[in-house]
Amino acid sequence: ALHNSLVELRGNIRVHCRIRPLLPFDTTGHSISQDRQRTFSEKVAHAADDETVLVKCSRPGHTSINKTFQFERVYNASESQDTVFADVAPLLTSLLDGYNVCIMAYGQTGSGKTYTMLGPQLEENFPFSIEDESELGIIPRATQEVFRLISEKPSGSYWVEVSVVEVYNNEIFDLLAKDSCGKVFGVKRDVVTTREGKSDVPLLTHETVENASEVLHLVSKSLQLRVRHPTLVHAHSSRSHLVVTLTITTVDSGENFGTSWEEEQTSQRLNKEVSCTFPQKMRDNKSTSSSRPSSPAQLEATEKMKQVKTRLQLVDLAGSECVGMSGVTGAALRETSFINRSLSALADVLGAIAEQRSHVPYRNSKLTHLLQDSVGGDAKLLVMLCISPDQKYLTESMQSLGFGTRAR
Ligand code: ADP
Ligand code: MG
Repeated sequence: ALHNSLVELRGNIRVHCRIRPLLPFDTTGHSISQDRQRTFSEKVAHAADDETVLVKCSRPGHTSINKTFQFERVYNASESQDTVFADVAPLLTSLLDGYNVCIMAYGQTGSGKTYTMLGPQLEENFPFSIEDESELGIIPRATQEVFRLISEKPSGSYWVEVSVVEVYNNEIFDLLAKDSCGKVFGVKRDVVTTREGKSDVPLLTHETVENASEVLHLVSKSLQLRVRHPTLVHAHSSRSHLVVTLTITTVDSGENFGTSWEEEQTSQRLNKEVSCTFPQKMRDNKSTSSSRPSSPAQLEATEKMKQVKTRLQLVDLAGSECVGMSGVTGAALRETSFINRSLSALADVLGAIAEQRSHVPYRNSKLTHLLQDSVGGDAKLLVMLCISPDQKYLTESMQSLGFGTRAR
């Protein structure tokens, strides 16, 4: 609660940092010690406390570093998925209060982005087989929480749709699009700005979903289509950004918007964003207000109601590592330069928002254009920096910490 109140004072971007544990594949290098060669790991990134990262490195032959970074929250290697999600949950309450929300994981390949957003090995398995629910990441938990919050609402009809896209080489692919035989495949889409100044992806597939497992099934299926390219860093490094979007449409019969000052404010703010507003309050429509319409057609047919759309975007960004380290050439180098460009466009956007500049350069990349409405304006953004603690990733970790610092 204390964290959240501090965060409110700072505005709508908060940056958390998660340092993953050292893992067996983190071997810093080889050292010849007298007569035998051994591999070793050395932890250089530490959670000094729950708001401070300490990067300390004083190995002979290396530039010595002793630097701290402050964030709204820093998770040490032993902090669980549960703990991380506890800090995310309040954002979902905001979502149902009418704010757009974005949660994105930033970091080099192997730093724990997919683990944090999805869970362990969920990327590789289809369909998701979740042995241990405590290992579930933010996407499955957030989805469950959204449906739980909806089920608690006394009135109002909620409609949830999901879309899954991949941004690869500055192109958007719809991972839920189907061909005429019903087979799933990635179809190229574009992102545009609507007359109201919102970002929109025309023709994007939005699947209507009734529960969290439907969402997970769709996400899991989409992940099979993600473009990957093996690099020297990690066998299945993700070379694309994955964006899972939940669109929540609230159909309000007039009962939803209360009379308290706070509720009145929310109501006024929401009214600015409604796609079709009918001023008349339908007090006699109680029966439909507590149950969700069963089809989009019926939803549209639900006359004389206010429709409010809010968006939750959950983003597993492509690896932020430097080209030199991955040792890539050719097509992979092209991918890397697109990744670098989109991530620097993201840094520019977050920097502009943090500095409250009047012009935010959303349209410099498809990624930022796509995320525009859930990072800017009064949307709430959580950046989850993921850090590999090993010394061999020092450059990448410093880069990620720099990115996070610039965004605050
Ligand atoms: P990325 O998506 O950033 O490339 P991954 O999420 O795939 O990285 O993580 C790399 C490896 O580290 C995976 O085997 C993952 O299960 C493991 N890992 C990441 N974060 C943690 C953590 N906090 N606790 C335990 N294992 C983790
Ligand atoms: Mg990953």
